[in-house]
Amino acid sequence: MASHMQNDSSAGFLHGFKSFATDAIHVGSEPEQWSSMAVVPPISLSTTFKQHGPGKHGGFEYSRSGNPTRNCLERAVAALDGAQYCLAVASGLAATLTITHLFKAGDGILSMNDVYGGTNRYFRKIAAEVGLDVSFADLTKLEVLKAALKPNTKMVWIETPTNPTMRVVDIQACADIVHEHNKDTIVVVDNTFMSAYFQRPLALGADICMYSATKYMNGHSDVVMGLISVKREDLYERLKFLQNALGAVPSPFDCYMCNRGLKTLHLRMKQHFKNALAVAQFLEADPRVDKVIFPGLPSHPQHELTKKQCTGCPGMITFYIKGKLDHATTFLSNLKLFALAESLGGYESLAEHPAIMTHASVCENERKALGISDTLIRLSVGLEDEEDIIADLDQALSAAHPKK
Ligand SMILES: *Cc1c(COP(=O)(O)O)cnc(C)c1O
Repeated sequence: MASHMQNDSSAGFLHGFKSFATDAIHVGSEPEQWSSMAVVPPISLSTTFKQHGPGKHGGFEYSRSGNPTRNCLERAVAALDGAQYCLAVASGLAATLTITHLFKAGDGILSMNDVYGGTNRYFRKIAAEVGLDVSFADLTKLEVLKAALKPNTKMVWIETPTNPTMRVVDIQACADIVHEHNKDTIVVVDNTFMSAYFQRPLALGADICMYSATKYMNGHSDVVMGLISVKREDLYERLKFLQNALGAVPSPFDCYMCNRGLKTLHLRMKQHFKNALAVAQFLEADPRVDKVIFPGLPSHPQHELTKKQCTGCPGMITFYIKGKLDHATTFLSNLKLFALAESLGGYESLAEHPAIMTHASVCENERKALGISDTLIRLSVGLEDEEDIIADLDQALSAAHPKK
C-alpha cells in the first residue's frame, strides 16, 4: 500500500517556522506573571478586578474588555502567527463578524468564491443585507482578482485551501495586487485549515490572519472559538475596541482549553500530515474512487504553490467516490472509526457529505459551479494509527461498491 511511498511528508515544503514549538509552549505562560508562580496559567473566572483608586487598575477592569487567561492565549497565538497582537473571540464566525465591523454600508467586500459555508451565509445574508457591497470571485486566478477590485473595495477575504474543494490561493500575489490597487484595503486570510503551524499569512503580506480555533488550533473538538492576529497597531486598536464593544468574547475556561491545545499543535499537525498523505495516496490508487483532492499530492493542480507558501498540509482530504449519491451515503453510513460528523481539525477522524451537511446553506447552483457534487466526501483525518484509518476507509468503500 502506501508504506513504500514518500515518507518524509514535509520534503520540498517551505521550511518550518523558527522556534515554533518553544513559543507555543512558553509565550504567554511565563510563571513570573503570577504571584503564585504557577507554571500552568490559572483560569481567571473573576468578571471584575479591584482598582487601586478610581481608574487606577492593574491592567484588568472587566472581563469582557480584558481577562488574564484570555491574555495568555492571545499572546501565545500572536507569537505563533509572527504577529504583534491577537484577539480571541467567541467563535470563528464571531471573528468574521468583528472584522467586518471595521467597515460600513457602501464599503466593498470581495470574497473568495469557495469559502466556509457559514462565511458565505454571513456575507450574503447579513453583511449584504445591512448595505455592504459583497461580491465573490475565484481568487485562485489573479486576473479575476484584478478585474474584481473596485474603487470601494475595502476588504478582500481569502480562504486557502478552500472548503471543501481545496483550491489554493497565492496569498503573497493576491496581497501585492490588492495593496497596489489600494494600500488601505485589508487582506484577510482565513487560516483555519492550515493552522499557524503550516501557514503564516501575515508574513505573506496579509493584514489580518483569522481562525476558527474550534478546528486545528484547539484541536480537541471541545471548544468553539475564533482568533484574529494582526501586526499593525492601528488595526489592533480598532479590533480591540470592537472585541469589547461588540462583546463576542470567549469564556476564560475556553481560553484555557485552547491555550492547552496549542502546546501540542506542532506535534498534532505533523501527524495529521503524515496520516493524511498516507490516506490520500491510498485513495488515489483505489479504483472505487474517482478523484482525490489533497494539496500535499503532486496531482493537486496547485501542489507547487502549496509547497512554496506552506510548511505542510493538514488532515483535510476531499474525494469523489465512484458512482452516485447512494454510493456516497452507503460509504459514509458504513464507516466505523470515522465519525459521520461536521467540523474538522480534532484528534479524531471525521467524515462528512458537504452537499447535504456543511454546505447545505450554499445554494444549489453555486454548489454545482464549485464542484460540490453528490459524490463529494470530505475527510478530516485524525491522529489514530494509519493502518486502522485506511482499513476503515477500505471496508466502507467495499460496502459502497460490493464485489459482484
Ligand atoms: C468552522 C469554520 C469557520 C467558522 O468557525 P466557527 O468556530 O464554527 O464559528 C470559519 N472558517 C472555516 C474555514 C471553518 O472551517
